[in-house]
Amino acid sequence: MTAWMVLAFAAAMAAREPAALSVGTATAAPGRRVFGAIEVPAGVDAATRIDVAVIRGTKPGPVLALVSGAHGTEYASIVAVSKLVSAIDPAALSGTVVLVPLVNVASFEQKVPHVNPVDGKSMNRFYPGRMEGTQTERASFLLTREVVEKCDHLIDLHGGDLDEDLRPYSYWTKTGNAAQDAVSREMVLAFGLDHVIVSTDRPKDPQASRYLENTATTRGKPSITVEAGHAGTVEPDDVAALVDGCLSVMRYLKMLPGAPTRVEHPVWIDSVKTVASGETGLFYPTVRRGTYVAEGMTVGYVTDFVGRRIFEARAPASGVVLYVCAVPSMKKGDTVANVGTIAASPP
Ligand SMILES: [Zn+2]
Repeated sequence: MTAWMVLAFAAAMAAREPAALSVGTATAAPGRRVFGAIEVPAGVDAATRIDVAVIRGTKPGPVLALVSGAHGTEYASIVAVSKLVSAIDPAALSGTVVLVPLVNVASFEQKVPHVNPVDGKSMNRFYPGRMEGTQTERASFLLTREVVEKCDHLIDLHGGDLDEDLRPYSYWTKTGNAAQDAVSREMVLAFGLDHVIVSTDRPKDPQASRYLENTATTRGKPSITVEAGHAGTVEPDDVAALVDGCLSVMRYLKMLPGAPTRVEHPVWIDSVKTVASGETGLFYPTVRRGTYVAEGMTVGYVTDFVGRRIFEARAPASGVVLYVCAVPSMKKGDTVANVGTIAASPP
């Protein structure tokens, strides 16, 4: 071969092979599974460290990010992404998978639901983040830069928190961009959860994207959010639904061989109605997660601490109980249940 031919060959190979992908301190060569971290430096409050794994296939393909643990006590989702790290074989993979099983380390360590106890903020409400802000905002900024901007697709995995008795469902964000929405719709069907909430009210501004999935969506990357798990449990069915769902989406994206397992006719939910408690006291649910209710039906009640019934929680609409409070702690204004209303026709 002449020198020119060698150069041309090298250029052709470079075009075929994706560039080395680094996420935080992890840099993956083809056919490798590597580990590292996104180091969030100290600022107005403490530093934190978010572990990452990057699995790079031997063949080119898309970059898929799988992120969980923004709420550090939604254990089923954290366990699912952690298990996926070893379940994905780089030798069988086309493209790259970036896995971030636990975003909110302090929540996990201290068993604090909903927020990052370091700054009291939800770690799925402050995207795209800023380095001048508190720990949640700095972590969000670095996750945007290191994960969102480097991926083509993202799945944000959640589950019912410690106090939420939740039935599994996915969110599909309808942006109005037909090409992007067609891909994310196929992702949600391939994921396979049989109830899908259609979100049309997410912020459109990439600089005020708020949610992780919406940060990817507003940057033109077809992405979804999924939830399975309830009340701190790690039930095999919930973990399996999340693990199998991610693998099925990877088949749809041609990252793994085989056909996706597609849910053909999910229940499409066109709005989510919240019922809040009018009183503080002991909460008693009278429905379960997934129960179908008619508007006005009692979904639970609250007594004062000496047992007198002081509040009746009624379904604000007819539909499916997406989640109901799983614990007796009830404060005036807090959520008793979310009821999803069923869309008249598929979106
Ligand atoms: Zn969550």
